[in-house]
Formats: sequence, C-alpha cells, structure tokens
Amino acid sequence: MQATQAIINLDNLRKNITLVQKKTGKRICMPVKADAYGHGALSIARTALSAGVEYLAVSTVEEGRKLREAGINAPIILFSIVLPEEIDFLISADLEPMAGDSEYIDVLESRAVKAKKKLPVHLKIDTGMGRIGCNPADAPALASQISKSKGLHLAGTATHLAVSDSVKPEDAAYTKMQLDIFCQAVEKIKNVGINPGIVHAANTGAVTFHNDSWFDMVRPGILLYGYAPENPEGIPALEVLPLMELRSTLVFIKEVKKGQSISYGRIWTAKEDTFVGTIPLGYADGLNRLLSNNWQVLLLENTGRDNRKLRPLAGRICMDQCMIDLGRDSTARRWDPVTIFGGLAPHAGIMASLLSTIPYEITCNINKRVPRVYIE
Ligand SMILES: *Cc1c(COP(=O)(O)O)cnc(C)c1O
Repeated sequence: MQATQAIINLDNLRKNITLVQKKTGKRICMPVKADAYGHGALSIARTALSAGVEYLAVSTVEEGRKLREAGINAPIILFSIVLPEEIDFLISADLEPMAGDSEYIDVLESRAVKAKKKLPVHLKIDTGMGRIGCNPADAPALASQISKSKGLHLAGTATHLAVSDSVKPEDAAYTKMQLDIFCQAVEKIKNVGINPGIVHAANTGAVTFHNDSWFDMVRPGILLYGYAPENPEGIPALEVLPLMELRSTLVFIKEVKKGQSISYGRIWTAKEDTFVGTIPLGYADGLNRLLSNNWQVLLLENTGRDNRKLRPLAGRICMDQCMIDLGRDSTARRWDPVTIFGGLAPHAGIMASLLSTIPYEITCNINKRVPRVYIE
C-alpha cells in the first residue's frame, strides 16, 4: 500500500448507472476516455458493462486497444479523428470511429476494404458545438457515402451539445436549436432511404435537463463518475455519488511555534503554537498548487464520523508533499489517514468550483503514480 491513493467506489458507479437507466430508459454509452476521467479505464469499463452499459467510448486508438487487450469486447466508439497511419490499428481493435467528412470517410473505407472488414462508423453532425462533424446540410450525402461503401456501415448518427448542462434560458434555447437541427438532419437521412443506425446526442447535461435529446442511446460521462450539473437553485440536479476519494497519510508531525513559517515562499506562518503534519501528495500528483493555503483536508482517525475534522493546508503545495495545520489541540498521530476530497470530505466538484474549473479536470489530473484502489 502507498501513503497516497485514489479510492474508487465501484458500487457508486453501479448506483449512478441505475439512476441513468431509470431516468432515461435508453441504452448507455459510457465514455472511458482519458483513463475513465482518471478513474482507471479497465475497472470502470468492466463494472459498467456488468451493470448494463452497452457501449464504451474512448478518444485515442491506444485507449481502445488497451481495453481490447484486456478482453473487453463490447462496442467502443472512437470520439476523436485519428491519423491515417492509425486507422489499421483502429480497424484491428474493432473500434467504431466517428466521421464527419468525405475525405476521412474515404480513408476509413480504403483501409477497411483492404482489411476485408465492414467497419461500423458513426456519422457526426456539427449542430453548434464547432468541434468535429459535418455541416447538417451534408449529412444525407455523407450517410449515403458511408452506407453505400463496401467497407463501411452506418452504425450510428450523432451530435454533441455545447451548453446542455446550463439552466440559463439562452443556453437551454441553444440546446433546443441544436436538437432541432439534429432531428431535421436525421429525418433527411431517413428520407433518402438510409437507416441512421443508433441515434445519439445526450451528454451529462442533456441526460439531466433535456428529455428530447435521448434518442436511442445516451452518452453521459461525468454524471456516471458522480458529478451532476446544478439546477436553478444551485443544487445538483441528480443524486449521483462521486466515485473518487483522494486519500493520503500523515507521514510526519511536528510542533510549530507561533511565528514560524511553513514551505516555499513563506506564505504561511503560525498564528499560535500548533502542530503541523506532512502528507506525501503534491502538485505532481494532481493537487493544484492554487489550493495552497486554500483547501481543507479531513482527518479520519480519532475523530469519528460525528466529530470529523476539516483542517487547512498550511503553506505552498510542493511537488510531492504538502502540509496541514493540525491545530494546537490535535490528537492526530503519525500514519493517520486523511481525505483530500471525496468520501466524507467535500468532493472534486467543490474543489473544482474553488479553482474555477470543472470536476473533469480535477479527476483527470490525478497522476498515474497515485494508485487507484477499487472498493465495492
Ligand atoms: C466526453 C464526451 C461525452 C461525455 O461528456 P460529459 O460531459 O462527461 O457527459 C459525450 N460525448 C462526446 C462526444 C464526448 O466527447
């Protein structure tokens, strides 16, 4: 065991999946890109599939290949556009690429024919995200290019929403506009006699707020990892449970006299005699340095659930270590565990808002040297 670890609660994942299943009644595609938003793609994928998720999604061929190597044989969508030289790997790993232009479809087609495969492709329509995807007007022609080709078949038709997690009226209107454009494009594909395959659009925000976006399959990511967008009252709109708890251990404790400074830059000095603990966790592990003097960690021992103690970070967060002001009356002892976020402490979403970012970035940034420890 290492002093610092990310505990991943797989039971919470099952509960979150059940919640999305009950709410939408649709097939679920779970994005496990970026190592499952930092949670560990393989364990997340296995648990998700056993809980009824039917599709996975990744962003690089390598992410997909690793899942295949580990024996995952569920369908996997590849969200990003990849280089021509990666396409043979994509095909041999049985990934389902998204495509939104004729040139890329041609490359996919020629490689698929060469490999003697019928490659499933998802047509991506850009309805207002502005990232990848075709102009909606071109959708029927591209759908027909895919479905008429020898090496490809149209497995799905998709779009991505830019502001679906926002409850501002102008954002809700934008999402509605995107969905209208998408529906019209899908209709046009059907009107030229082509089956659009699985129609899918809904990310977390759309699963939460836009029932008319669910179509045949939903693709919520962060929601399944336990973070829901807020309703107009500023309260999480769905009761999902965060999966990740970042834990560390007090490996050193010392008495610090009033006026003594702690860490680089001397931005913290003791206002009174106190005890200061050190944990082996720093910005290289993904603890954002902007949290220096600006976050509280939860002491787990000797305090019990009813008497839990949140104690402030003291001084600059270093690369591999940081310090905690334990207080003058501290009963904390060396080797006591602490929680930095998640579990009984404030979760990554709270940390994210303090840093003006999103929970995705907090969990993705937990470095690979922090072992992921799975609990049920
Ligand atoms: C990442 C991603 C999702 C999931 O987004 P969340 O906001 O995590 O729900 C869905 N679709 C596409 C295309 C994505 O890239």
